[in-house]
Amino acid sequence: MPERIGRDRLAEAIRRGGVELLDVRHRVAYEVSHIPGAMHVSNGLPADWAPPQNAILVVYSYGPEDDRATKATTRLEATGFDRVFLYAEGFRDWVASRMPCEPPVKSYACTVCSFGYYPHMGFPKMQIPPGTLFEELPENWRCPWCGAPKSKFAAQQAESNRLR
Ligand code: FE
Repeated sequence: MPERIGRDRLAEAIRRGGVELLDVRHRVAYEVSHIPGAMHVSNGLPADWAPPQNAILVVYSYGPEDDRATKATTRLEATGFDRVFLYAEGFRDWVASRMPCEPPVKSYACTVCSFGYYPHMGFPKMQIPPGTLFEELPENWRCPWCGAPKSKFAAQQAESNRLR
């Protein structure tokens, strides 16, 4: 089992520097938002890539239910990288804790009834776990208050937390 790193330790390591973050979610999700400085990795690492000297590698995906981060971590270790860590709680945990993201995550408001969707809260009553981005909600998702479709929502000004 790969060694794990939790959110607080990861945030501290990012502040200090010397962390190479590898995001193994889908590319579209990465493009919407990711942990600051993270590199997107889909089918293995670029052939000529090497981590910076003395850096630890941290791999993350959506959350603990998604095993692609575990697999990527194991693969990196097998390739000969040591100091590989798994942030198993993943990006949803990061967002749910309102940690800084790049670009910053956005809240959305229903333009019909003004219901607000806040990614750090999700909407557990509709099985949307905290940390789920609005962009990741299913296309047929509807406003819990008035039933308006996703297209009736407008992005709100993003928060800009800073980590480094
Ligand atoms: Fe609404």
